Amino acid sequence: MPELPEVETIRIGLAKLLPGLEIKDVWHDWTKSFPNAPADVKNFLIGAKVKEVRRRAKVLIIDLSTKYSLIIHLKMTGQLVFVSKNQQKLETRKKKLVKKANSQFLIPNSSEAGRFGGGHPTDSLIGKLPDKSTRVILTFKDGRRLFFNDQRKFGWMRLLPTLEIPEIDFMKKVGPEPLEDDFTLKVFVERLKRRQNSSIKAALLDQSVLAGVGNIYADESLWAAKIHPTIPVKQVSRSKLANLYEAIPTILCLAIEAGGSTDRNYLDAQGKKGSYLSLAKAFRKEGVPCPRCGTIIEKIRVAGRGTHICPKCQKLTK
Ligand SMILES: [Zn+2]
Repeated sequence: MPELPEVETIRIGLAKLLPGLEIKDVWHDWTKSFPNAPADVKNFLIGAKVKEVRRRAKVLIIDLSTKYSLIIHLKMTGQLVFVSKNQQKLETRKKKLVKKANSQFLIPNSSEAGRFGGGHPTDSLIGKLPDKSTRVILTFKDGRRLFFNDQRKFGWMRLLPTLEIPEIDFMKKVGPEPLEDDFTLKVFVERLKRRQNSSIKAALLDQSVLAGVGNIYADESLWAAKIHPTIPVKQVSRSKLANLYEAIPTILCLAIEAGGSTDRNYLDAQGKKGSYLSLAKAFRKEGVPCPRCGTIIEKIRVAGRGTHICPKCQKLTK
């Protein structure tokens, strides 16, 4: 599943493309992917203009001129692909370029390609659309289209009044945004305290404690703060928590700058691989010396997830 930096990378890409476009038509093949009342679609989606593309946790929010918003959760296998009307002509040219490029997923960018994709890496990102993974198609007045593809059908796209978004269950439960100003050390510690007896890693993965941090960035932050992931929250010293509080946004920003992490070829909104994993210090570095002390990084299992630690920097004591 994408984590905060990957979704933010898609948001940045779509925010450059969608605002100002008018939605002319919508198609969907699977009600669970698009669970909206036909009357709402007719009155508040068709004819609406895109105003803004936002993100909360791992959810994308497309605000519309009708004071409604589309909210999109990609879940495990969702992807968004924006395609210009000249796609067919460009397909041929792109195939040549892709062939030339070393990576099968490297796409020439922006206006040249007329295509932007982000999310789960399948051939749908570069192939002809719609295909059998296509769940929703938004067609804009100028002929461009946004495809929501989802092989496993866990993702969804919901139309809601913009004002009601904070009231939905997901938004009520989700923790603070680690990159926002209101994410203070005090807030972080208070949120963690709700999970006093959990391991610190399980607490970090809990989306009600903090929004958007998953396996990759939990391991990287704990390594940076020198905290062993299995230590219960209540046993982590205040100074270590302060280190962790500093580490999380720093690492997330670095990852956003790198275009996210290419976890099994995870792609950003321009179909490019994110490069954070090449900067990672602990995640998937088992067998490699710790860049801080030279001890070999180990892989263990914590909170049901493969977890990477430096056994010397991240001791089991406080
Ligand atoms: Zn170390």
